[in-house]
This record gives sequence, structure tokens and C-alpha cells, in this order.
Amino acid sequence: MSTILLAGGAGYIGSHTSVELLSSGYDVIIADNYSNSCPEAVRRVEKITGRSVKTYEVDIQDKTALEAVFRENKLDAVIHFAGLKAVGESVEKPLLYYRNNIDTTLSLLECMNEYGVKNIIFSSSATVYGEENPVPYTEEMKRGTCTNPYGWTKVMMEQILEDASKADKELSVVLLRYFNPIGAHSSGMIGEDPQGIPNNLMPYVAQVAVGRREKLTIFGNDYDTPDGTCRRDYIHVTDLAKGHVKAVDYVLKNSGVEIFNLGTGTPYSVTEIVDTFEKVNGIKIPHVYGARRAGDLPESYANADKALRVLGWKTEKTLADMCRDTWNWQKNNPNGYNTAE
Ligand code: NAD
Ligand code: UDP
Repeated sequence: MSTILLAGGAGYIGSHTSVELLSSGYDVIIADNYSNSCPEAVRRVEKITGRSVKTYEVDIQDKTALEAVFRENKLDAVIHFAGLKAVGESVEKPLLYYRNNIDTTLSLLECMNEYGVKNIIFSSSATVYGEENPVPYTEEMKRGTCTNPYGWTKVMMEQILEDASKADKELSVVLLRYFNPIGAHSSGMIGEDPQGIPNNLMPYVAQVAVGRREKLTIFGNDYDTPDGTCRRDYIHVTDLAKGHVKAVDYVLKNSGVEIFNLGTGTPYSVTEIVDTFEKVNGIKIPHVYGARRAGDLPESYANADKALRVLGWKTEKTLADMCRDTWNWQKNNPNGYNTAE
């Protein structure tokens, strides 16, 4: 069976993808510097699947250190999750974001080139559609103007991967544009564990529910949307992880670049998220309405037809599943992976 290197595989999406790949028979190797994750997540992946995962603690920017991973293993494909992802922080520390996100990509591509690994899947984002494109987004739309350095790193990394593939006809690249991943594995053993104050909606809601935060502030209710709050395409992280398994099957059999949106195609508003979370979990989420957050688009959602047509993938989980599984993870792990906190 094929062996897949998950760069940044200990993180939120990487850990869930590890479970689905291992359950589908793939071997998984994780390289991570644990800058936004911890080894405990990998131990839990092993517990869920009953399979072992080889890990390397390595900064993927460091090509010399990364080479050991390629030298010591016969890899069939790489999935590149290893990036910094906090939009606000990227505005304050743009150089850190450009350095980390671009250098990890270059190191991986250079090692792949040296060791003859020809398949890569990249964690891109709906943010590359920028401000100009109308919803729902389709893959052939031109990349747009981003509102922050994080988004620009994704645009640049897509470009780098496309150029690398033009120069090496054997290289197979899949760019996965994620929409808004939320939820957790149904076991409640792995989930999203942000450090500090969560930037994203669902982890914030979960921390209010568990009593770590007093109340949620909803950023703006004067948008031109049905209830005035922003709408996003929330996708269950397990559906997203299964999309990666399909993308691995695909990338191993093809060459060139292919782009896929991974979303449900159905947007929900912030208010709908809060209402659904309260209803399915029987918990009140105290909330207030505040000012708009700079850079937020009123709506972002996918046309997910291409992934169904080409990969045979579509989402199966509902918004209720996403809210239930988020709470199951959070209530079993009130302090995330840090049980001693
Ligand atoms: P995450 O922070 O949980 O996972 C990223 C992992 O990469 C972490 O384990 C971190 O320690 C590791 N990492 C970062 N820099 C590294 C480096 N230099 N060397 C080694 N490891 C490094 O984030 P996630 O939510 O799992 O996201 C994974 C990828 O998907 C990221 O590239 C992110 O930008 C992208 N993405 C995420 C979302 C989202 O909402 N979660 C949406 C769109 C795209
Ligand atoms: N949001 C909010 N309060 C929060 C965090 C997020 O109202 O504390 C809103 C945000 O304005 C956006 C939606 O929730 O409309 C999703 O935000 P998130 O940061 O999770 O995803 P993104 O903006 O990257 O799509």
C-alpha cells in the first residue's frame, strides 16, 4: 500500500485526514514541528485506528532536516498542511507568514524533486477567490485580491505549485480549496484545539459552551444577507478528510494540476450556527452583536460539483452533526489536548 507524508499532519485537519487514510489502508508518516499542535493528537489517531504512525519532529522550512524524512522512507505522495493560518496574526506578522508558508512549500518541493516523489496535495483555501469573484465559487475562476497576507501566501503557493508542475511533466498536483472546516471526529478523541483566544467562529462557540469564554461577539449584523450576518460554507472535518483520501487516489494516477473546492455548496449564517448549536446540544450560547471584522466578506460558498464529478466525493454530514461533534469533542476535552491545564 502507498505511503503518504503528511507535512503538518498533527494539526486539526491533518489528524482527521490521518484517521481516514489509515482506515483506507494507506500508511501515514507525519512531519510536524508542533508549533500549533501536539504529539498527543497523533497518539489518539493511533488509538482510534489501531495503527501506528511514524512521526518526525521537524521544521519543514529546514530542508536539511526534512531530507532525513525523504531519505529514510519511500514516499508515494505528500500532503502539505504545514502552514500558519491565523488571518489577524498574518496582518501583524506578515514576514513570519511569508517565510513559514512559502519556505515549507519550497523545501517540500525540493526534497520531492531530489528523491523522485511526484505527487503532492496542497491545503489551499476559499480565500484565494478574493473579493471580486461572485458566489458560488467555481474552480476555473481567476484567483482574486486577498485582504490579508495569509490569503496571499495561499495564492503564491498555488502559483509555485503550478509553475513546478509546468516544469516537471511527471509532477501531479492537487490544490484543495477548503471552505470552513468545523466539527470533530465522532469518537470525540480528536478535534480543533486552538492556542489562546480562538479566531474562528466554531471553536469560540465551543469554548463559550464549556465555560472558558463568557460570550460570543457576532461580528456585524448589517450585511446584505438574509439575516444580516455573514454566511459561510461550513464543512464537517471528517467529510473534508475523506475528500483527501479521494484526492490521494486521484493524485497517484494523474499528472498536471487539478483544483477542487471542498465544501458543501450550502451557506449558513453566523446566527444559524449559534441557533443550531444551541438546539442540538441543549446549551445556551450567550452572544452580543458587535462591529464588523475587517476583511470579512458577506458570503463565501462553494460550487462543489467538480469534486463530485471527478473525485466521486460529496459531503455526507449535516450542520447538526457538525455542532454535535464539536460539542462532543469539547465537553470530553474542556482544555483540548492539554488535560493538565
Ligand atoms: P493547524 O494549525 O491545526 O495545522 C497545521 C500544522 O502544521 C500544525 O500541526 C503545525 O504545528 C504545523 N506546522 C506549521 N508550520 C510548520 C513548519 N514550519 N514545520 C512543521 N510543521 C509546521 O491547521 P489546520 O486547520 O489543520 O490547517 C491545515 C492547513 O489547511 C493549513 O495550511 C491551513 O492554512 C489550511 N486551511 C485551513 C483552514 C481552516 O479553517 N482550518 C481553511 C483553509 C485552509
Ligand atoms: N465570527 C463571529 N465571531 C467570532 C468569530 C467569527 O461573528 O468570534 C464570524 C465571522 O465574522 C465570519 C464567520 O463567523 O462571518 C466565520 O468566521 P471564521 O473566522 O470562522 O471563518 P472565515 O472568516 O475565515 O470564513
